[in-house]
Order: sequence, then structure tokens, then C-alpha cells
Amino acid sequence: MGSFVIGAGFAAAAAVAAGYQSMAPTGQCYGRAFTGLRRGSRQLALTFDDGPNDPHTLRLLEVLSRHNVKATFFLIGRYVKQRPDIARELVRAGHIVGNHTFNHPNLIFASARETTMQLRDCEQALIDAVGEHSRLFRPPFGGRRPGTLKIARALGLEPVMWNVTGWDWKGKPAEYVETRISQQIRGGDVILLHDGGHAAFGADRSQTVIAADRLIATYCAQGYEFVTIPEMMHENAGSNLSSVAC
Ligand SMILES: [Zn+2]
Repeated sequence: MGSFVIGAGFAAAAAVAAGYQSMAPTGQCYGRAFTGLRRGSRQLALTFDDGPNDPHTLRLLEVLSRHNVKATFFLIGRYVKQRPDIARELVRAGHIVGNHTFNHPNLIFASARETTMQLRDCEQALIDAVGEHSRLFRPPFGGRRPGTLKIARALGLEPVMWNVTGWDWKGKPAEYVETRISQQIRGGDVILLHDGGHAAFGADRSQTVIAADRLIATYCAQGYEFVTIPEMMHENAGSNLSSVAC
């Protein structure tokens, strides 16, 4: 009985650990993924998921342009097909676009074939809309299992996660998003925000736009520099957190 209880407890703990690794944005056990730079870097990267979206992606573009900041957008393929013009606007304005699958499934539950199709279909939608683009990929919900990132790499894609989240998909006010992010920033961060919503096109992201505006103003005033993910990866090759052992 005693050993059964201990065994069951261990199994439960292992299951929790596996679940945590599947969704944890900075977990590296299921393959290397970029999550930012060493603490104390003066660089920050804004990343926006689940677009393109109307009108909030375009509002965000106005904000970023006003601050002369470039960001990285992980786009959902089916929205790119729906609004290739917005995807083109992003690229035209100098932002980086990457792959966020075709219709945003949780890849923990996807077969290898389904994962491959999701990544390929999104790549094709991006190529049709904007032509050559980054090789960056972010799994929906941060969900992956051991084979997921291997498939992405086999397709030539580079997984990117995050280490700071704004919890903006909950529809909270801009002040909440701003506070949550400020509590997590320690320099060299990849910040997760959303200009769209995976459940439906047209999600209200007005609060994200306001929060991004304020965060940029605050952190630029403190001497931080906002960069894209390729800039962060390139300029600091070898110093990211992906060497975390597990
Ligand atoms: Zn997403």
C-alpha cells in the first residue's frame, strides 16, 4: 500500500512535470527554443501572436511606427489567407513575420502528419502573401511534445518561445497587462502579446495596443532598446537561455 501510494505520487508528479514541460514557455526538455537573452541585457523583443487582425494589427502598426520600433509577429495561416493585405503591411513597415500554424491547434495533441501540415500550410500562406520571410515558428499555446520541434526544424523552422507574458488574451485592461509585464521584465526578454485572437478573426485587442504604447515609452525612457527576434538572436548568438539544462 505504502509503495503504491508513493508510486502513484511519483507517477502523478512525473505527469505534472511532463505537462509543465509541454506548455512551459522557457522549458527546454522537448527541444531547444529561443526564449531571450541573459538577464540584464538592454534589449527587449515585443512579439505579437494570432494576427493578422482588423483593425487592431493596423492600430498597433501606427503605435510601433510612432515609436520607430520593430516587432515580431507570429501569424495564423488562415487569417493570412483572409487578409494578406495586412500581412503585407507588416512586412512593408519592416516588422518580422513568422509561422504560428495554419489554424492554431495545440500541437501536443497533433500527430506528426498534422503538425507537418499545419506548419507547411502556414508557410505557404505566408509565401503567397509576402514572399520570403523569416524562418521563425511559435507553437500555439506554447504547446509542444518531443517530436514537435524536431518536425519544425526538419522543415527549416526555428522555434521561438517567450519568457514574459502580458496575459492580454483574457481581455484585461491595458493597466493590468502593463503591470504584469513590468513585474517580469529583467532585461533580454521576449514579451508575448496578441494582436489577434485564435478563436475568431476580429478579436478586440485595443487594450494590447494601449499597453504596447505605454510599455515602449516606459522602457525606452529607461534606456532599453526594442529589437526583433532575428536581431536579438543574431547580435547575441551564444548568449541566449537555450543552454538551460534539464
Ligand atoms: Zn496563438
